[in-house]
Amino acid sequence: MKNVRVRFAPSPTGPLHIGGVRTALYNFLFARKHSGSMVLRIEDTDQKRFVHGAEDYILKSLKWCGIEFDEGVHKGGEFGPYRQSERKEIYQKYAEQLIKQGAAYYAFDTPAELESLRKKLEEEKASNTSYCAASRGSMKNSLNMTADEVQLKISEGEAYVVRFKMPEDELVNFTDIIRGDVSVNTATLDDKVLFKSDGMPTYHLANIVDDHLMEISHVIRGEEWLPSLPLHILLYRAFDWDAPQFAHMPLTLKPDGKGKLSKRDGARLGFPVFPLEWKDPNSGEIYAGYLESGYFPEAFINILAFLGWNPGTEKEIFSMDELIEEFSLERVGKAGSRFDPEKAKWYNHQYLQARDMNEIVPLFQEILKQKNIAASDDFVAKVVEMVKDRADFVKDLWDQSFFFFNQPEEYDAQMVKKRWKENSPQVLGSLQIELDKLEAYSVEIIEITIKNFLEQNQLGMGQVMTPLRLALVGSGMGPGVMDIMALLGKDEVNKRIENVLNRIKR
Ligand code: GLU
Repeated sequence: MKNVRVRFAPSPTGPLHIGGVRTALYNFLFARKHSGSMVLRIEDTDQKRFVHGAEDYILKSLKWCGIEFDEGVHKGGEFGPYRQSERKEIYQKYAEQLIKQGAAYYAFDTPAELESLRKKLEEEKASNTSYCAASRGSMKNSLNMTADEVQLKISEGEAYVVRFKMPEDELVNFTDIIRGDVSVNTATLDDKVLFKSDGMPTYHLANIVDDHLMEISHVIRGEEWLPSLPLHILLYRAFDWDAPQFAHMPLTLKPDGKGKLSKRDGARLGFPVFPLEWKDPNSGEIYAGYLESGYFPEAFINILAFLGWNPGTEKEIFSMDELIEEFSLERVGKAGSRFDPEKAKWYNHQYLQARDMNEIVPLFQEILKQKNIAASDDFVAKVVEMVKDRADFVKDLWDQSFFFFNQPEEYDAQMVKKRWKENSPQVLGSLQIELDKLEAYSVEIIEITIKNFLEQNQLGMGQVMTPLRLALVGSGMGPGVMDIMALLGKDEVNKRIENVLNRIKR
């Protein structure tokens, strides 16, 4: 394979959604796998859609999840500048070249004239209702004017656009790495605008000029760009440049598979659609982020990797290095990939279980600190070890373990009603006397003590364990009662048994 150079080319028109991060990820994996270069280019030619803060957000998001670049707007490099608004002069030159060659032309039509063309073609039920080979002959463009007329209009400052002169009836054939062979007749395509008199190129011209000048070898991007590909291929041809290879990735779909995943789906269905929280600078609306929702960046990457790609084996947990090793565009599917919020949580759960305790403890200590709880790292680590299999996120740990840090203030009414029997106070009181005699307070010793107690008093497990759990936790939840006891220690267990005996009167 020739020197691999790929690019991620977002437009700063808003925050990067998970589909966009996935595009960046697949480019990154492909570049690393083939020891190539990864370029970050900002495509900000559409000034009307520019959103303040979006570029910064994109950079922060990619950094958070570990997608790195070799060159780009934030790093520099020998193919810069990497922000299209800083490359305006370059595009102008190429637009003029196409005009000279006869592959493009100036068009002076006003918005009202364009609108009436559209209406007319619709009424006529024309097969192509846009500005195209069939209609350009009747419009106000340089193809229908003398060179002097054109020059006069331009020098008088009349607004114009440069349009691509789409061949009338030609088959454009190309091969996409993911979609295979595609063939499109140019009769269905329109004369796309390439450049405007405000000095700005449109996406199509800037995109292919830059991909060429930046020596991009593979264009890996979302399926929504596939319809633009015939035009891009024809532009490469007009310039007599070799086109890069293309791979158009499947859409990311809503959880029910009905339509493209949108930014509104997150709030509606209760999962984040953006890597980091995003505050819309215009509406003030806040959209949840994976970071803020408690996802580990590694889990997030793993989720995105499987959104369209699979390794062809049962293995589901992949580190970034493993992904680089295994990734191939050939294993990216054609069909849209449905986003599964439950599976996303499952991934984070797996990463939480595997996480080093030295990393989890400080994260959980932060949560405890906010609650004014001081506990030793050693104690916190033991608590985490005991409850983490019930948690998907670090923040879930509290809900699973609060009773280790706070004595119960009240007792689950339902459970008291059903399970706190007449003899419970007496049973618990006698057991406490036995437990209080213990010197070592380990799970094994507690277990033997309780077993003996049950036997001697001819009691069933539930008659003791349920009131005991109520005393310790306040409800029916939590890990094994004896594990809780051993960790809380004798004094604390005694206190909690006394509390329950004093408080539940029936
Ligand atoms: N600026 C385009 C976007 O934001 C890039 C498309 C491409 O990769 O060619 O989607």
